[in-house]
Amino acid sequence: MRLKFEVVKNIFQKNILRCYVVIVFLLIVSSYFTGKKILMPFFYNHMINMAIYENQKISEHIFMHESIKEANISLNEELAMLKDNFKLLKIKFFDAQGVVRASTDLNDIGKQNTEKYFINNVKKGEVFFKIIQKGSLSLEKEYIPKDVAEIYFPQFIDGKFHSVIEIYYDITHISGEFNTIIKKIDSIYFAAVGVFILFFSFILYRLSVADLNRKRNEDEIIQLNETLQEKVRKRTFQLLKKNKELKKLANFDSLTGLYNRGFLLNLASKYFDIAKRNNTSLFIISFDLDHFKHINDSYGHAMGDDVLKAFTQTVTPFMRNSDLFGRVGGEEFVACIQNVKEEGALLLAQKICKAIEKATFVFNDITIHLTVSIGIAKLTNEKNIDELIEKSDKAMYQAKEAGRNQVCSYKEA
Ligand code: GH3
Ligand code: MG
Ligand code: MG
Repeated sequence: MRLKFEVVKNIFQKNILRCYVVIVFLLIVSSYFTGKKILMPFFYNHMINMAIYENQKISEHIFMHESIKEANISLNEELAMLKDNFKLLKIKFFDAQGVVRASTDLNDIGKQNTEKYFINNVKKGEVFFKIIQKGSLSLEKEYIPKDVAEIYFPQFIDGKFHSVIEIYYDITHISGEFNTIIKKIDSIYFAAVGVFILFFSFILYRLSVADLNRKRNEDEIIQLNETLQEKVRKRTFQLLKKNKELKKLANFDSLTGLYNRGFLLNLASKYFDIAKRNNTSLFIISFDLDHFKHINDSYGHAMGDDVLKAFTQTVTPFMRNSDLFGRVGGEEFVACIQNVKEEGALLLAQKICKAIEKATFVFNDITIHLTVSIGIAKLTNEKNIDELIEKSDKAMYQAKEAGRNQVCSYKEA
């Protein structure tokens, strides 16, 4: 039922329905005209032809009567006979002035017809007629009890208007037959219109169903497209996020957030090349936490991780934006510092060493003290960054050997 309603609604939104309504309206209106207005003239024609034929006979009789001077019956009596013979309702005879000279109704005699149609049409030679329906008035305002054709036949003698014969021709019988024919034609026409309407309604309905299905398919495709686009958008966003994370994983140490070994060495290598080219100073500082294994063993690996993070947070503030600081091993860190004097670099390392020594790291109510051994190497004649790091590592091991918690500068042996 829902589908049907939608289908009808869909039809109503279409121009085709408007055309259809107009066509149906025209068909219905035309059905009125087919019977009455189109066929009626044929009927009139047929009737008038019959009347003309009878009128010729009537006029012959009248003129014959006129020419026999010693006729022993009056023209009125002659007309009365003709009326009966031809089964007419009435016959009138007008002279050239339109005055009734004789009639089957004696009351008409002497009356003059001065109507426009008489003067303008009949007197000029036109056969003028009107179909009078039963119970209505004739052209001369007389009540007519039957269906009649009121016809005026002008008579001309030697081309000159002479008189008019008017007959009231009873058409009850003919119009009855005619109405039956009209009714038959009307019913055939109505049936044809009905079939047409049914057929077209069916076609419209089918068209509308097809149209609705097409629309539904289109909507589905649009919806699928939108979902797909949304999915692609989400996936792209996720991929970008993942890419960012991967990049971070590739370049940064996940525990401390510092540069990882690979990335730090890469950058440091660039710093190395720049310093060499510009002949500026460059220092590598290596850090190794003292007895870190002991912390892990005593308080657990997780606590060890916290200590590594705390160490990072303590050292980072000492670094400038142009410095590099990264985690290169388990509890080993490297800094790359450029454009400072040797005393400056040494002072920085010592400050860090002191800061770590002084700091107290408290985790889960456990206080931990930490120290770090630091080695420094200054860029001199090294061929690459690895050589310089090796030297700072050596210095760091010297600090270990010297008792830890101190800074050692690399000295050529
Ligand atoms: P030293 O003073 O000689 O450097 O002694 P140390 O104990 O620090 O040195 P060692 O090389 O013997 O031990 C380093 C320890 O660091 C061993 C390992 O369990 C620990 N370690 C390495 N990476 C991590 C890490 O990511 N997290 C934690 N918690 N411990 C780590
Ligand atoms: Mg170590
Ligand atoms: Mg260590």
